[in-house]
Amino acid sequence: MNEQKLSASQPDVLVIGAGNAALCGAISAHENGAKVVIIEAAPFEERGGNSHYTGGAFRFAYNGPDDLREICAISDEDLKNIDFGTYTEDQFFDDMYEMTQFRTDPELCEILVRSSLETAKWVAHQGVKLHPGLGRQAYKVDGKFKFWGGLALHINGGGPELLAALYRKAAECQIPIHYNTPAVELLREHGRIVGVIAEQDGERVEVRAGAVILACGSFESNPEMRARYLGPGWDLAKVRGTRFNMGAGLTMALAVGAQPYGNWSGCHSVAWDVNAPPFGDLTIGDQFQKHNYPFGLLINARGERYVDEGANFHSHTYAKYGGEIMRQPGMFAWQVFDSKVTDLLRSEYRIRRVTKAEANTIEELAAKLTGVDPDAFVQTVQEFNAACRADVPFNPNIKDGKRTHGLAIDKTNWANPLDQPPYHAYHVTTGVTFTFGGLKVSTGAAVADLYGRTIPGLYAAGEIVGGLYYFNYASGTGLMAGAIFGRLAGKSAASFARQKAEAA
Ligand SMILES: Cc1cc2nc3c(=O)[nH]c(=O)nc-3n(C[C@H](O)[C@H](O)[C@H](O)COP(=O)(O)OP(=O)(O)OC[C@H]3O[C@@H](n4cnc5c(N)ncnc54)[C@H](O)[C@@H]3O)c2cc1C
Repeated sequence: MNEQKLSASQPDVLVIGAGNAALCGAISAHENGAKVVIIEAAPFEERGGNSHYTGGAFRFAYNGPDDLREICAISDEDLKNIDFGTYTEDQFFDDMYEMTQFRTDPELCEILVRSSLETAKWVAHQGVKLHPGLGRQAYKVDGKFKFWGGLALHINGGGPELLAALYRKAAECQIPIHYNTPAVELLREHGRIVGVIAEQDGERVEVRAGAVILACGSFESNPEMRARYLGPGWDLAKVRGTRFNMGAGLTMALAVGAQPYGNWSGCHSVAWDVNAPPFGDLTIGDQFQKHNYPFGLLINARGERYVDEGANFHSHTYAKYGGEIMRQPGMFAWQVFDSKVTDLLRSEYRIRRVTKAEANTIEELAAKLTGVDPDAFVQTVQEFNAACRADVPFNPNIKDGKRTHGLAIDKTNWANPLDQPPYHAYHVTTGVTFTFGGLKVSTGAAVADLYGRTIPGLYAAGEIVGGLYYFNYASGTGLMAGAIFGRLAGKSAASFARQKAEAA
């Protein structure tokens, strides 16, 4: 696309970014009658933002298999072997409130939870395929899979297939996407946002529009902003996803007086292979993550455990335990397992690019754990093994209460002694996913100014929205929140642009 074409496009709705939230916003604006244009900072080959890297976990409320059957095919035969349970709106609310220590914005959370099932259906209607998340969110125990709440369905093929379907849909709607075209400044005239200045081929291009949707991610890829807002050391974290989420949308919005909102010193981060590249690798996706620590031990450089690995299912703790690694000496940890749980580990433990140690004795393993005090590690394992309850059966599908007693940090579920060789361990550091701080938006996804008034013509969706997450995050809500607020932003922006056009 050349500069002239873009500057002459004059869409009703201009969408900044081309990830999940942006595409849902663009499709929704089109559904609501708007002429839409998307501009995207990345080149075509790196398109898709963080959304591309996702494994496709998709959180929504459901009252049982009948709700799920409206979204994907589940046969009666499947139901004999799979207990989907329920994930009611109340359960979803409980998770959001508990994980954010009751700080999640009640209005935004209400929209997230109550629109989630309907939005899952809408996303499926756009051509996105889903399937039961067996092996990730449900294990087979006594011949039957049992889901432990939430995340019953995952997107087939994860982020790449989600995006492929949404790009197809955007193309059907004839929505042009201009790659290599970052927005650098919002245009505000008479109080209203009337477009952006973008960069194309090193030139500044003015793109005027009836309304603008910012869906260009948070600031996780920007080390200066990470150090500034998340704190010292965070500049050194690896980035799990795109290198393009530099916080430009936030910076542009703050420059026109938008209100910062939410947990600006907080982020989503996970255990990530210590040798992973500085940013995500499109060919690996999310597979540098290591999420099965509830079945093993987390060991730091001092050879000590530093958290309760079994405090909850990984989907409740993984997004905050990544940050705990940052606080350990040397910013690394080892995840240690014995062979009793090998079959429970997800595919990410079996990729070729994994930093792994293996041994037949704990002493032999200790010598292989780079950076770890070996004697202290052996002592930690001995003390841990002695403290495990033997009278409670291990069950990965429930919080089994198989715990330790008397340790400085007890493991409160899934506390199997490490006693069955071979032992295997995985070297991890902190991988940052996205940052929690963002813009204040209304229930219609309109961006608020510093004093709570709407900035006319400006909408936001996805990671750039603040106020949903504090301290922690329930897995699978990122894509869902992006879809929900993207849809809302598209609808609101289309309506605003129409009103302005009619008034002109
Ligand atoms: C490895 C990994 C695994 C994940 N797994 C899951 C999962 O299974 N389920 C889940 O729900 N969530 C998951 N997430 C989180 C999820 O990816 C995000 O919450 C969600 O994709 C964010 O969508 P978005 O559209 O807001 O941002 P993005 O998808 O990041 O899109 C933002 C886009 O804006 C573009 N952009 C940035 N600046 C500019 C600019 N100035 N001008 C124009 N364009 C710009 C970027 O290039 C990018 O394409 C995962 C994230 C990662 C990194």
